[in-house]
Amino acid sequence: MSDASTSPSSSELLDSVTPMPMSRSVRKRPRSSNDFFELLNCPICFDYYTPPIINCKKGHSFCINCIERMERTSGDLRCPQCRSPIDKTSRNHLIEDQLEKITVGCIWREYGCKVRISLTERENHEKTCDKRPGGVFCYFAHEPLGNSCSWKGNPLQLPKHLEQFHDIQPIERGRIVKFLWNPPRQDQARFRHRVIKIGYPSESNKTYFILEHIYIPDCKQLLFMVRTLDSEVKIPYKISILNRSDDENKISFRGKTADFEDIGLLSQYPNIDKTKIFSVHYDTLQNYSFQNQEDGLIYFSLHVEFLSAGYREVVDD
Ligand SMILES: [Zn+2]
Ligand SMILES: [Zn+2]
Ligand SMILES: [Zn+2]
Ligand SMILES: [Zn+2]
Repeated sequence: MSDASTSPSSSELLDSVTPMPMSRSVRKRPRSSNDFFELLNCPICFDYYTPPIINCKKGHSFCINCIERMERTSGDLRCPQCRSPIDKTSRNHLIEDQLEKITVGCIWREYGCKVRISLTERENHEKTCDKRPGGVFCYFAHEPLGNSCSWKGNPLQLPKHLEQFHDIQPIERGRIVKFLWNPPRQDQARFRHRVIKIGYPSESNKTYFILEHIYIPDCKQLLFMVRTLDSEVKIPYKISILNRSDDENKISFRGKTADFEDIGLLSQYPNIDKTKIFSVHYDTLQNYSFQNQEDGLIYFSLHVEFLSAGYREVVDD
């Protein structure tokens, strides 16, 4: 094993493997039949281990992410191979060290990425690699009020782009994000994007979502949805518009965070799946708007609540 890991040809071997053609940007790395590389594959995700790597009592190893995903879905913390208990603090440093030493080319190298990465950094890089196919356009390339931005790239890089080029700062909150917005003008289109950063799948592990909103004067509809940028992360959420003077009185929508394949841009309305987005008629919104005494302006109160498995759902309607 140590022979193979120090031999320069061990990484070249991987480079000669051609990635499979793929329609979506979710990929499975074609695996080498080489026994040594088999040792570096997790039996749950069938991909290279992503550290930290943990062991069962009998020495079977898994990515901690894979084990925690299994634990969340089945509530079980036993080895999927031998059913013995898993101690999440028992690390497999031997394999982690091997992963650190071996570098491979990025899986998107055929799309122009020249980066070489160690197997420990691989997952993070490949996920956010800007050469990864299936790129999306910036919102400001499409939207009716946009200033035709030409950016196109990895959806996971979109929050960074929105921040750097369009000055849209991420909002970092817990499970519920509360907004006070002015209603649109009846005859004036508008669109808004709010980048929301939440502690998902865990407090220390953040994920970006984008709250999208558009108002279309022709049909007098306000539309809302929460976009997921990572196609592998789809979680339920709830959007509510509340009546400030009467807590009981609210309108809510439950949906699932959706990527660009699930739901096209809101500006394509009505040519999108209307059951998957929250739509509110302009006239309805009047019942939920209120005048702020301090500035005399009209507002409505909008809450976005994430209902993922990690969060206990608050039942309030
Ligand atoms: Zn795994
Ligand atoms: Zn085991
Ligand atoms: Zn890359
Ligand atoms: Zn842009």
